[in-house]
Amino acid sequence: MDNSFKNILILITLLVLPAIGAAASIAVFSDGVVYNAESYKIGEDEYISAEALAKVFRGRLQWNDKLHKGKLTFSGHSVVLIPDNPFVLVDKGFLSIPVTPQLHGGKLMISVLTVPAIFSKASGKKVVWDPEARTLLIGRGAPNIKGIRFSSSPSGTKVVLDLTKPLKYRPRSLPKNKFEVFLEGGVLNSSDISAKSCPGLIRSVDAETTDDGARVVFHLNKRHVKAKVLSLKGPNRLLVTFTPGRKEVVVEKRALEVIVVDPGHGGRDPGAVGRTGLCEKTVTLDIGKRVAELLRRKLHVKVILTRTKDEFVSLAERAKIANENKADLFVSIHCNASLKRESGGTETYFLSVAKTDWARAVEARENAVIKFELPEAAGDTASLDYILWDMAQNEFLNESSEFAEVIQKELTSRFRIEDRGLNQAGFYVLKGCYMPAILVELAFISNRKEEKLLKKDSFRGKAAQGIYEGIKSFKKAYERKLNL
Ligand SMILES: [Zn+2]
Repeated sequence: MDNSFKNILILITLLVLPAIGAAASIAVFSDGVVYNAESYKIGEDEYISAEALAKVFRGRLQWNDKLHKGKLTFSGHSVVLIPDNPFVLVDKGFLSIPVTPQLHGGKLMISVLTVPAIFSKASGKKVVWDPEARTLLIGRGAPNIKGIRFSSSPSGTKVVLDLTKPLKYRPRSLPKNKFEVFLEGGVLNSSDISAKSCPGLIRSVDAETTDDGARVVFHLNKRHVKAKVLSLKGPNRLLVTFTPGRKEVVVEKRALEVIVVDPGHGGRDPGAVGRTGLCEKTVTLDIGKRVAELLRRKLHVKVILTRTKDEFVSLAERAKIANENKADLFVSIHCNASLKRESGGTETYFLSVAKTDWARAVEARENAVIKFELPEAAGDTASLDYILWDMAQNEFLNESSEFAEVIQKELTSRFRIEDRGLNQAGFYVLKGCYMPAILVELAFISNRKEEKLLKKDSFRGKAAQGIYEGIKSFKKAYERKLNL
């Protein structure tokens, strides 16, 4: 064979046989279950194998070599496909399709464009091909409840359902130590959720996707358990906490009902002291009492002060007070101090944990030591009041930062001193405390002008009003988010 003839033959072959190859993969979401199927490009069209679709529909594919046709059967339905034939037999009716099935490499292929028409008719389910996202959605489609996480401590068990978008939910207790959360429009990633083993107060979890949403049922180990459900965002998730209680399973109110106001320092711990002798502990107690009074009178919420007189209360005790009262919000009131006399202004901290175990360990050590260091060596950070914190706060970073932002705004709009903005710090001890928490540094007691302000009745009134307004608007926004 001479070369030119060989070239012509190759050219003819290329023209006659359309190119075939595994083009890419297609994600198939069938009622919350995810499959990855290979797709093949034949000419201009994209195909998926009938075999892959049989797997998705939990059916089987039979190829009849003599009659040169394939039959796919699943849950009482059948689809008969003939290569290069524009008619498909679905159960007992014919369906005309624009792109014919193909036989390639011994595999029966179906054009992805024709899959919705064929399989919605056969299964009675909604079937959609999304070419942009390269996904095939069947029935309830993609899961919006991605997974479930558990963690347990002596104070209770925490469950986090990771969501792709916010979902409305309805919690209720059921007989025989069961607690149910129904998520409207929820679609479970069922393979992930049922496979987990459960710790602490939970014995097992049943989860199912129904026509109008997802039902998650917790089987509890004990009769006396308190359950609380909270919707959180950034990332979207639903937090369900179980704590040992005195009564049978009860759903707690989801609104912000219990607020802990924490006047910093007290007793033998005066906090920072100003040049004229004004003590931080005196200012924080007076303002804390004013905030509590406003909240009780105007917002009708339960308010707990961590101290009501000039007494020493340890951080651990403050944490215990918040824990035992199942606080929904925690506000710690302080005054700032610095060796730099000119430093001044208002700043609000939201309490956060260090990013790594090592950083946490270092921060914890530094904080424990800081009180023993010389003020000169400690520098500006010595003035910062740390509240010991727990990993549980991770769940509330967004809420706490939003809360800090609104408090800072309300305070600085009332004061005529520098707005130092938001900051984050903190560590651990409020074990099992699930609440947004902040710490305000109203003004610098070490600054002559600001110390004078902190003595004034009018300034203290403005501070209390600012904190009160901040709590009020945060509560409103928070409850609107929960659809209360
Ligand atoms: Zn302080």
